[in-house]
Amino acid sequence: MGTLMNTYGARAVTIAKGEGSRVWDTEGNSYIDAISGIAVCGLGHCHPAVTRAISEQAATLLHVSNLYNIPQQQRLADALCAISGMDKVFFSNSGAEANEAAIKIARKYGNEKGVANPTIVVMNNSFHGRTMATLSATGNTKVQIGFEPLVEGFVRAPFDDIAAVEALAEAHDNIVAVLVEPVQGEGGVHVPASDYLNRLRALCDRHDWLLMTDEIQTGNGRTGRYFAYQHNDILPDVVTTAKGLGNGMPIGACLARGKAAEVLQPGNHGTTFGGNPLACSAALAVVETLQQDQLIERARDLGAQLLTRFKAALKDESGVTDIRGKGLMLGIQLDRPCAELVSLARDKGVLLNVTAGNTVRLLPPFVLTEAEADELVNTVSALVRTFIHATFTHQ
Ligand SMILES: *Cc1c(COP(=O)(O)O)cnc(C)c1O
Repeated sequence: MGTLMNTYGARAVTIAKGEGSRVWDTEGNSYIDAISGIAVCGLGHCHPAVTRAISEQAATLLHVSNLYNIPQQQRLADALCAISGMDKVFFSNSGAEANEAAIKIARKYGNEKGVANPTIVVMNNSFHGRTMATLSATGNTKVQIGFEPLVEGFVRAPFDDIAAVEALAEAHDNIVAVLVEPVQGEGGVHVPASDYLNRLRALCDRHDWLLMTDEIQTGNGRTGRYFAYQHNDILPDVVTTAKGLGNGMPIGACLARGKAAEVLQPGNHGTTFGGNPLACSAALAVVETLQQDQLIERARDLGAQLLTRFKAALKDESGVTDIRGKGLMLGIQLDRPCAELVSLARDKGVLLNVTAGNTVRLLPPFVLTEAEADELVNTVSALVRTFIHATFTHQ
C-alpha cells in the first residue's frame, strides 16, 4: 500500500463483489455486511434499481456542472423537500461538505442579523466530518489533534443535556445555531431522551437560533423514519444528509427551510461536482425504492426486533453494559475495549465495526433477510460472549 497515504492503516480484506446484504472477498469468502459501507448501502449492494439508474444515466450524460439546469437534481430536490418539510436543497458530494454548507448558512444568518462572531452550539462526542470546519465542530479531540489552529465559532455542550445548552445561552450572546446528530453515530450509537430534539427546537425558537440536524448517518431511513427528527414531529431549520442517500454513489445534501433557505444567494456557495446528473439519478432511485418497497418501515421493525433479540441473547452477560439503538443503527456496549471483535467477527463471516473503543456498531442493510438476521444475532451474540469470557482475567 506504499503509494496510498496511510490514513486508514493496513486493511485485512479486499471485497470483490456484493449483492443484497452479502459481500464476497477476493478469496471467495462470503460475509454478512452489517456495516453497509458505514451506513451507506441501506438498499443492499448493487440494488437493481440503483444499478439501472446509474447505467442509464452513465450512457446519457454524466456531468455538465452547475452552470446549467440539471433536471435530475430538481427532481431529487422536489422529492427530498416533499419528504422532509424543507424548502430548498444544496447538493454536495459528501457529508462533510453538506455540513460545511450548513455552517456557512448559520454564519451568514448570524452576520446578517448583526451578531458579532456568530457561534454554533455543538455537542461533546459528536462527529461532523474531517474538513477543517467540520473537524472543529466535532466533539472528539482525536480528529483535531495536529490540525490546529481549529476553526473558531463553536461552543460545546454535553449531548442530551438541555440545561447545558440553556447555560450556554446565558453565557454567550452570539449563538446563532445548534448543530446536533439526532442519534450520535461515530460517538458510540447514543440515543438521546425522546424529547431532546423537541426541547432543542423550543430553545432555538426562544433565542432565534437555527436548529440544524446532522442526519448524514441517521437520514435516508436508517432509524426507521426517513429523517430521524421525524420521530419528534418537529421541523429543523437545516438538515444535512449524505451516506445512505446515494447507496454508494457519493452525494450529500444540505436542506433548509424558511429563513434559513433564503440565506445562500448567487455567488455565496458552489461546487463543481455536487448534484451532478449521475449522482442525482442514483439518489432518485434510492429515494423511490425506499418508499415503494417500504424499506423504512422494514428498518424500523427489523431494528426493533434485532434490539430485542440481542438484549435477550446477552441479558446474563455482565460484561455487556448497554444495548441500544434506533432502527437499524445498533450499539452493543461492553465494559472493556473490544476493537478485536472486528477481526473476530470477520473470521466468522460478519462485517461489523467497533466505535468509541468499546461499542460494537451494527448498521445492516434494510434488505437483510430473516435468515440473515438470525445469523447476525447468533454469530454476534456468541462472539461477544466468548470475547467477554476470554478477556475476563485481564480486567
Ligand atoms: C459520516 C458522517 C459525517 C461525514 O460524512 P463524510 O461523507 O464522511 O464527509 C458527518 N456527520 C455524521 C453524523 C456522519 O456520520
